[in-house]
Amino acid sequence: MITGVSDCLFCGIVAGEIPATKVMENERVIAFRDINPQAPVHVLVIPKEHYPNVAALAQAGDGLLNEVITAAHQVAEAENVSEDGYRVVFNTGLGAGQTVFHVHAHLLGGRSLSWPPG
Ligand code: AMP
Ligand code: ZN
Repeated sequence: MITGVSDCLFCGIVAGEIPATKVMENERVIAFRDINPQAPVHVLVIPKEHYPNVAALAQAGDGLLNEVITAAHQVAEAENVSEDGYRVVFNTGLGAGQTVFHVHAHLLGGRSLSWPPG
């Protein structure tokens, strides 16, 4: 486990050094609105601890990935998109569009979501 990685944007949000619109927070997870929303509901759900991607988070094996997914569902319920349906996306690697290397689940909802994604 690594916490507070310097030059990590999302560690900066966790530390309160960079502003964000938080929608939920618990002991190990925070969720905040994406600054460039791609859907009416677009929230990023992250562990407070720094892991570079979802595979590294899974390998930590201490239930934190489960907490991130559970938090995403809680936010979906709070944002009233859980009944219509929502999408949880972990972009992993440059080719998939990952730009911030602090693992984050994109929670997307509030509109019809096409498949396959672009
Ligand atoms: P990804 O491209 O999957 O790594 O996702 C990174 C996401 O972080 C993008 O959707 C950005 O719009 C979002 N983002 C970047 N900076 C901020 C910020 N300061 N606050 C909230 N979201 C951000
Ligand atoms: Zn980080």
